[in-house]
Amino acid sequence: MPLATLAKVLSQAQARNAACLGFVCQGWEDARAYVAAGEAAGAPVILSAGPGARANMPVPLWGEMFRTLARSATIPVVAHLDHGRTVEECVEAIEAGFSSVMIDGSALPLAENIALTNAVSDAARAVGVSVEAEVGQVGYEDGAPSAGTTLEEATTFAAETRVDALAISVGNLHLQTKDHAIIDWQRLAEIEGVTSMPLVLHGGSGIRHEDRARLAQTHRVRKLNVGTELRQRFGGEIRAALMADPDLFDRTAIITRAAPALQALATDLLRQSWRG
Ligand SMILES: [Zn+2]
Repeated sequence: MPLATLAKVLSQAQARNAACLGFVCQGWEDARAYVAAGEAAGAPVILSAGPGARANMPVPLWGEMFRTLARSATIPVVAHLDHGRTVEECVEAIEAGFSSVMIDGSALPLAENIALTNAVSDAARAVGVSVEAEVGQVGYEDGAPSAGTTLEEATTFAAETRVDALAISVGNLHLQTKDHAIIDWQRLAEIEGVTSMPLVLHGGSGIRHEDRARLAQTHRVRKLNVGTELRQRFGGEIRAALMADPDLFDRTAIITRAAPALQALATDLLRQSWRG
């Protein structure tokens, strides 16, 4: 089927008190495994091309690859630009056929973030592409610190922009290799009180499974980004395949042995998050 928009799959998630997963993609084999996982779980998948992915492969190729995967998929597939930083980057993705773009102005002063978000929204809405924005900053494990989303910021941002999904910072952190994030439930509830927008948490790998369920079932978090735990599994399987067979050298053969475990983990995560 054709690509689905982010707005569409998030409204499906809303209807069942569930969360969609945004999968951080690095290439063909993992993206293909995530679509197969979606089909096994009966859940939509959001295929994300982040800054690392785009540094490795041009945006038009990502767009074509995601569209090709969606075409033969039996579940909705969203092609999503993750952490676009400029209007130009988002427009390039829209022209490459993405159905959703994230404009990340979270490092800017609030008024500039709002202006940037609205510029991208205007361009995206004109062609039916969804927009995710971020207010407050989600930091990185062992890297840039977080700036938790304040109620004032969320209120102003919600009033002055029109986006399909809002990423917030409430204790979640990128690149956590263990699930030990401490969610600020009170702040989350306060933010839900000032906006009806579906909410997004990046850094899903760092969030405990019981917290992920609570975020979807008793709160309005409709998208969780997951990357690290899946990359850990894939990398671990590749390492194990190479160590088990010292004569193994062919890239396709190596990845073919590792991909089933990646797909199995993605299927488990989707079943948990889409159960609602
Ligand atoms: Zn992120």
